[in-house]
Parts: sequence; structure tokens; C-alpha cells
Amino acid sequence: MLKVSRLPDGQPEIFHSVQGEGVNAGRPAVFLRLALCNLSCLWCDTRYTWDWKRFDQASQVVTMSVEEAEKSIKRYPGHSVVVTGGEPLIQQKAATPLLERLKNGGYWIEMETNGTIVPSRNWIRLVDHWSVSPKLENSGNPLSARENPRAYRLFRSLPSAHFKYVLQEPDDVKEIKALSRKYALDPLKIVLMPQARDRKTLLERSRWLVDICRSEGYLFSTRLQILLWGNRRGV
Ligand code: SF4
Repeated sequence: MLKVSRLPDGQPEIFHSVQGEGVNAGRPAVFLRLALCNLSCLWCDTRYTWDWKRFDQASQVVTMSVEEAEKSIKRYPGHSVVVTGGEPLIQQKAATPLLERLKNGGYWIEMETNGTIVPSRNWIRLVDHWSVSPKLENSGNPLSARENPRAYRLFRSLPSAHFKYVLQEPDDVKEIKALSRKYALDPLKIVLMPQARDRKTLLERSRWLVDICRSEGYLFSTRLQILLWGNRRGV
């Protein structure tokens, strides 16, 4: 069984939109938001998927079978799916049959992860694009929790993976440069995105972030969903 986040109306958080972040921004896809996370980022905008001190787990999470999730995904047009969270790799075992079914149905699968859990061979085979978002010091997570060298090296070896970093201040780039040297990351596999939950902050931080991308040769990502709809669920 899968633990899936709920929308405010109680329905599972499975919806059709366009990818708002990373190198596939603009691509129409069905989104599946899995609950639970192994980190606790200070600025997390999906705390309702894991923070049971602030949110009531019973009202925020729905348990679904693989068949139910597949049926909900297939209600929508297209054959692209983005699995997000929370941290989806926590539910690797339970979600493998769903990924198998989607793949057999001709789906292209993007996986969003915080990069701290090593994916199984099955998932490496099934996932078409990895959007790996390791957290920096600005997330408030201890280094031992946010950086898993084994996972870093594995994702670095996958042609289908990009590393998407969330920056709050220009100085955050120093940490990214150090990580890039440590794991020999290709600059064109590094995507920088502003930490922002409202349009004003997003635009302000985008200005200095674009300059950093121009000087370092990294890719830039906006957060299209924030620009279009603000900080809302299910969009
Ligand atoms: S890894 Fe993602 S879901 Fe987990 S706490 Fe951080 S921002 Fe939130």
C-alpha cells in the first residue's frame, strides 16, 4: 500500500499540471505526491507530508493500493508522470509495482528526491529522469542527514540525473562549488533554484541567481507554480 498526501478536499494529491521546476519545466504531467520525508527542511513547503507535530497525519495522508493510484493517474491525459513528496524513495518497495505498471503502459517517469537514499536497481531502470535536490546548510538539516556520499556518487553516475539546489543567499553557492568539486559534478547537471514561496521573493532572488548561473555555467530554474498560482496545493 502507498501513503499518498491528501489535498485540502481530502482527495489524494494526484493532479495534472506542468512541471514547474528543473530541466523539464513546462512539460505537462500527472503529479503523484507521496507522503513521508527523512529530512526536516526549515523552509519546506510540503510540511503536511511529514511534520506530524504541526499536521494531523490521519487527515493529511491517505493509504492507497497500487491499482487505485494507477487508476487515478490514468484518468488524466498524456503519458508523463512526476513522482514527488515528501521523499518518494522512502516508499521504494511499495511503489515499485506502480512504476512497473506505468512503465509498461508507456509512461515517462520523473522522480523528485532529496538525494539521501540510494535507489534500487529496479528504480534506476524504471525512472527516466531524476531530479535530485540535495539540501544545503540553509535547510537546517545536519550534514550527516543531508549528504549521503554513496547516494551522491550513484546519482552522479546516472546520465538521467540533474542536481537541483535551493539557494537563499548568494553565498550559498560556495557550498555548491565545494560539493561540485567533491563529487566531480558536471556544471551543466547543476540547476540552481531560489528558495521562495511567493512571487516577490522568487523574482528578487532570481535576479542574483541568474548572475551566478551566468558566471559559473550552472542552469537556472524558476518555480513556475509559485509564479502562476502562489503557494497552493494540487497545482
Ligand atoms: S526534503 Fe523536501 S519534502 Fe523533505 S523536508 Fe526538505 S523540502 Fe520538505
